[in-house]
Amino acid sequence: MSNPYLTATKPDPVDWHELTPCRDDPDAWFPDAAKDAADAILVCRVCPFRRECAQEALDTGATYGVWAGVLLDPKTIKANRRRLKRTAR
Ligand code: SF4
Repeated sequence: MSNPYLTATKPDPVDWHELTPCRDDPDAWFPDAAKDAADAILVCRVCPFRRECAQEALDTGATYGVWAGVLLDPKTIKANRRRLKRTAR
Protein backbone atom coordinates (compact mmCIF):
# COMPACT_ATOMS: atom_id res chain seq x y z
CA MET A 1 0.00 0.00 0.00
CA SER A 2 1.46 3.34 -0.97
CA ASN A 3 1.45 6.41 1.18
CA PRO A 4 -0.68 9.10 -0.55
CA TYR A 5 1.43 11.85 1.04
CA LEU A 6 4.53 10.48 -0.62
CA THR A 7 2.96 9.99 -4.03
CA ALA A 8 1.02 13.25 -4.21
CA THR A 9 2.34 15.61 -6.85
CA LYS A 10 2.93 19.28 -6.23
CA PRO A 11 0.64 21.63 -8.14
CA ASP A 12 2.28 23.20 -11.15
CA PRO A 13 3.72 26.62 -10.42
CA VAL A 14 1.82 29.46 -12.03
CA ASP A 15 3.37 30.63 -15.27
CA TRP A 16 4.06 34.35 -14.99
CA HIS A 17 2.87 34.80 -18.58
CA GLU A 18 -0.64 33.98 -17.38
CA LEU A 19 -0.62 36.93 -14.99
CA THR A 20 0.74 39.75 -17.10
CA PRO A 21 -1.29 42.92 -17.70
CA CYS A 22 -0.52 42.76 -21.43
CA ARG A 23 -1.98 39.31 -21.82
CA ASP A 24 -5.46 40.43 -22.78
CA ASP A 25 -4.47 43.06 -25.33
CA PRO A 26 -1.32 41.90 -27.10
CA ASP A 27 -1.93 44.18 -30.10
CA ALA A 28 -1.29 47.23 -27.92
CA TRP A 29 2.23 45.90 -27.23
CA PHE A 30 2.95 45.44 -30.93
CA PRO A 31 1.78 48.75 -32.39
CA ASP A 32 2.14 49.70 -36.03
CA ALA A 33 3.58 53.09 -35.09
CA ALA A 34 5.87 54.05 -32.22
CA LYS A 35 3.51 56.85 -31.18
CA ASP A 36 0.89 54.22 -30.35
CA ALA A 37 3.13 52.49 -27.79
CA ALA A 38 2.79 55.08 -25.02
CA ASP A 39 -0.05 53.38 -23.14
CA ALA A 40 1.67 49.99 -23.21
CA ILE A 41 4.91 51.52 -21.92
CA LEU A 42 3.02 53.13 -19.02
CA VAL A 43 1.48 49.78 -18.07
CA CYS A 44 4.89 48.11 -18.22
CA ARG A 45 6.26 50.62 -15.72
CA VAL A 46 4.06 49.13 -12.98
CA CYS A 47 4.13 45.53 -14.16
CA PRO A 48 5.58 43.16 -11.53
CA PHE A 49 7.11 40.99 -14.26
CA ARG A 50 9.38 43.57 -15.89
CA ARG A 51 12.55 41.70 -15.01
CA GLU A 52 11.30 38.37 -16.38
CA CYS A 53 9.94 40.10 -19.46
CA ALA A 54 13.23 41.87 -20.17
CA GLN A 55 15.13 38.61 -19.78
CA GLU A 56 12.75 36.84 -22.13
CA ALA A 57 13.17 39.57 -24.74
CA LEU A 58 16.93 39.14 -24.50
CA ASP A 59 16.76 35.34 -24.55
CA THR A 60 14.47 35.22 -27.57
CA GLY A 61 16.23 37.98 -29.49
CA ALA A 62 13.05 40.01 -29.77
CA THR A 63 13.38 42.91 -32.18
CA TYR A 64 9.87 44.32 -32.26
CA GLY A 65 7.18 45.41 -29.82
CA VAL A 66 7.12 46.72 -26.27
CA TRP A 67 8.98 44.54 -23.79
CA ALA A 68 9.49 45.57 -20.17
CA GLY A 69 8.63 49.13 -21.08
CA VAL A 70 11.15 49.30 -23.91
CA LEU A 71 9.89 49.80 -27.44
CA LEU A 72 12.07 47.61 -29.58
CA ASP A 73 12.93 48.98 -32.97
CA PRO A 74 15.35 47.26 -35.35
CA LYS A 75 17.00 50.65 -36.05
CA THR A 76 17.94 51.19 -32.41
CA ILE A 77 18.23 47.59 -31.25
CA LYS A 78 21.66 47.98 -29.62
CA ALA A 79 20.49 50.75 -27.30
CA ASN A 80 17.25 48.88 -26.66
CA ARG A 81 19.09 45.72 -25.66
CA ARG A 82 21.23 47.70 -23.21
CA ARG A 83 18.06 49.02 -21.57
CA LEU A 84 16.61 45.50 -21.39
CA LYS A 85 19.82 44.19 -19.78
CA ARG A 86 19.61 46.87 -17.10
CA THR A 87 15.99 45.91 -16.39
CA ALA A 88 16.70 42.18 -16.37
CA ARG A 89 19.32 42.46 -13.60
S1 SF4 B 1 6.62 44.39 -18.55
FE1 SF4 B 1 6.40 42.75 -20.06
S2 SF4 B 1 4.91 41.35 -19.13
FE2 SF4 B 1 4.71 43.32 -18.10
S3 SF4 B 1 3.11 44.46 -19.20
FE3 SF4 B 1 5.10 45.03 -20.08
S4 SF4 B 1 5.36 43.66 -21.83
FE4 SF4 B 1 3.78 42.76 -20.50
